[in-house]
Amino acid sequence: MMQRIRTLFAAILIAALACSAVAGQKTAGGGKAPTPSEFLGFEVGADRKLADYRQISSYFKALAAPSDRVQIEILGKTTLGEEMIMAILSTPENLRNKAKYQDIAHKLADPRGLSPQQVDALARDGKTILLITCNIHSTEIGSSQMAMEWAYHLATAQDAETLKRLNDSIVLLVPSLNPDGETMVTEWYRKYLGTKYEGGPMPYLYHHYVGHDDNRDWFMLTQIETKNVNHMVYHEWYPQFWLDEHQMGYTGPRIYIPPNADPVAKLVNPLVHRGNNLMGADMGWRLEEAGKSGVIFGYSFDAYWPGGTRNTGWWKNMFGVLTEVASARIATPMEISATELQGGTKGLIAYEQQINFPNPWPGGTWRLRDIMDYELIISDAALETVSKFRQELLHGVASMAAYAVKSADAAEYWRIPLEGQRDPIEASRLAALLLEHGVEVRLAPDKKSVLVATAQPYGRFVDEMLGIQRYPEVRPAAGSGILEPYDVAAWSLPLLMGVKAERVRISPAEQQGSTLLQSAPWPAGGLTGTGKYFSVAGRQNNTFALANAMQKAGGEVYVAHAANEPPVVVFAAHPQLQENAAKLHVLLNAHADLPARAERLKAVRIGLYKPYIPSMDEGWTRFILEQYGFPMKNIENKEVKAGNLNASYDVIILPDTSRGVIVDGKQRAEGYAEEMPPEYTGGIGKEGVKALRDFVENGGTLITLANSSAVALGEDFNLPVRNVFGSGESARGTQATSINIPGSLLRVYVDTNHPVGYGMPQEIAAFFDAPIAFETSPPAPDVTRTVIAWYPEDSKDILVSGYARGAERLERKAAVVSFTKGKGKVVMFGFRVQFRAQTEGTFLMLFNAIRWAGM
Ligand SMILES: [Zn+2]
Repeated sequence: MMQRIRTLFAAILIAALACSAVAGQKTAGGGKAPTPSEFLGFEVGADRKLADYRQISSYFKALAAPSDRVQIEILGKTTLGEEMIMAILSTPENLRNKAKYQDIAHKLADPRGLSPQQVDALARDGKTILLITCNIHSTEIGSSQMAMEWAYHLATAQDAETLKRLNDSIVLLVPSLNPDGETMVTEWYRKYLGTKYEGGPMPYLYHHYVGHDDNRDWFMLTQIETKNVNHMVYHEWYPQFWLDEHQMGYTGPRIYIPPNADPVAKLVNPLVHRGNNLMGADMGWRLEEAGKSGVIFGYSFDAYWPGGTRNTGWWKNMFGVLTEVASARIATPMEISATELQGGTKGLIAYEQQINFPNPWPGGTWRLRDIMDYELIISDAALETVSKFRQELLHGVASMAAYAVKSADAAEYWRIPLEGQRDPIEASRLAALLLEHGVEVRLAPDKKSVLVATAQPYGRFVDEMLGIQRYPEVRPAAGSGILEPYDVAAWSLPLLMGVKAERVRISPAEQQGSTLLQSAPWPAGGLTGTGKYFSVAGRQNNTFALANAMQKAGGEVYVAHAANEPPVVVFAAHPQLQENAAKLHVLLNAHADLPARAERLKAVRIGLYKPYIPSMDEGWTRFILEQYGFPMKNIENKEVKAGNLNASYDVIILPDTSRGVIVDGKQRAEGYAEEMPPEYTGGIGKEGVKALRDFVENGGTLITLANSSAVALGEDFNLPVRNVFGSGESARGTQATSINIPGSLLRVYVDTNHPVGYGMPQEIAAFFDAPIAFETSPPAPDVTRTVIAWYPEDSKDILVSGYARGAERLERKAAVVSFTKGKGKVVMFGFRVQFRAQTEGTFLMLFNAIRWAGM
């Protein structure tokens, strides 16, 4: 059905596009460009009307065809194969010279070797490049609709002020950072229009893999959409200013604009915030002038975390602003009673007039049109700011880049050894990621390590991402709790990836003998020698990818393990082995015979549970398993409830989500929850829990990730284990007595002789963001329990990077436990073993747990 609707719209649009292309002719300022409403045949922004992504991108193409102020660039394909577009808007003259302005932007972003006079000249001659991105969170849909109207305005306006702004600047406008999600949300909305579910939540993620976490991916760059935009920003356009337009909840302020809230990141040049605040001030001015109330700054969104779109650029000397407009029910208006308006968050504890909120919105009707009107004003204000302060901003970027170089010690480098790493492929992956970020990466003269200078334009970014974090304890008042981070508190890439990296001083000879890398130095993979068998120590994530690829190709895979050594993974000779091993950078050694104790590895059938209240962790897990070639199927409530799960699966993974979501299909036990269409109501129920228990007793392996352990901690499973934090506590508690570990890396010890710990180091940095730590008790003979990983005895040793208060409650508690019961197994991960596809250093434990099911 979805497919048919899509095809139908596409056909209509191609017809419409063809008409306008015939009628249109390139004109200066183009009077012939259609308005969005003319082109789409409905009033854009009207109640209950939405343009889907195909319509939006067709409109942009129709606008560009007759206009000499608009060009379209394709950023790449999306996860589901959609074309991701960006409009480039400026004067015809600027567009003709766009390569020149890209070059100026590049030089200002890296002004090494330029004299002050040359920088002055570039700032004088350059244009500010303003990137505006919309709709990364697909339900925050207003900006995707607004983008069409604003682009039409810029393409056709004849007033002197707009023409001046366009002459000063080049606007890069991305109408949706998540086209697939825009389509999903629009289809869902249209499907239930006029029913009681109108404008309600969807039962699936609005990004194929990661849902809302698409805006948590900007330092790790795992998703294709993130990669596309990252490449455009840091390798092609070097915009000086990035504005990312979002929406927030509906019972608070109407719009958030800069300044950000506390805390503030130490390594970001303060000029970044000054530039952001200039833009925020103009936005606030223009909104009040237009009679728009409910404008707030210094609210909720901190200046500390580098994971979202524009934030990552702060460490790369780029100005970057987030805005958040209050939502409606997608395109359905809402009535908000004055009594429903509330604060309750950083910067607005009570919904009252304050200096950062001088004109509270009084309540009333709020609709898509309001969202778009606020967004049109702030988009205009953004362009006004970058036009007015063109030279200052261009100069500012160059001076921040120069300062990043000058303030660092030219002999200080990060050294990432390519040899002696547990997983050398991960070390290369880290180098590849830094290159993707536009960082300068060098190969040491002996080719045994990679060197990353701290004295380079993106040096602050390098130190932020390779160093460790210490969250600043900012208190709004004496004696009060600290301001909590907006998102997580740790992102140290070497720790996340399990890679050794060191900040060292290097000699001038080593500096001079090193060479700039254009691409990552991947280790050589393939076969050494000839034989019937080929082996590798099972310490690398990619050995699993290779095992999965070979099993898929019909090859034989074995594992042998000796105490206190990593397991040996053995592959029988096969026509595809060399090619696969080379592709995956895994180097295999030849053997004449099968090594002693080698056990044939069974290919296991994996079921990944997928709830109707979408779990981003489900999506991330699916993404990772697909990346590493694990054969996998999603399993939904109905199938779990039906039981007899052993017939279809050897392993079932419950992703991180609450017991309430899994068992009852409810986020919270109490309070109002909107009804979903009946086919998406409820959870696995009591019978589903029993079916999972039967699955284990009959020989299946159940893996629970973080919060989903609560399903197996219940009385149905009757396992000798409890969560020391119970079930009601949050890891983000703010009271002095509670635990507060909001996404940090903690030290954990691992039993490397347990199959789940095979190939791991004895000490790891594990990502912790949920209050889960296990306490086991000695069981009766029919159950065995093993503590696979545990926290240190002394709380002083627990935190590695991030923030941890109340860590003493983790002392000597278990982090990963396993049980055998009946013929089957249960493995519970308390920490986030594969969090957001960022914790590559602990992926191996999840893969091991899956493999254990086949042993
Ligand atoms: Zn958002």
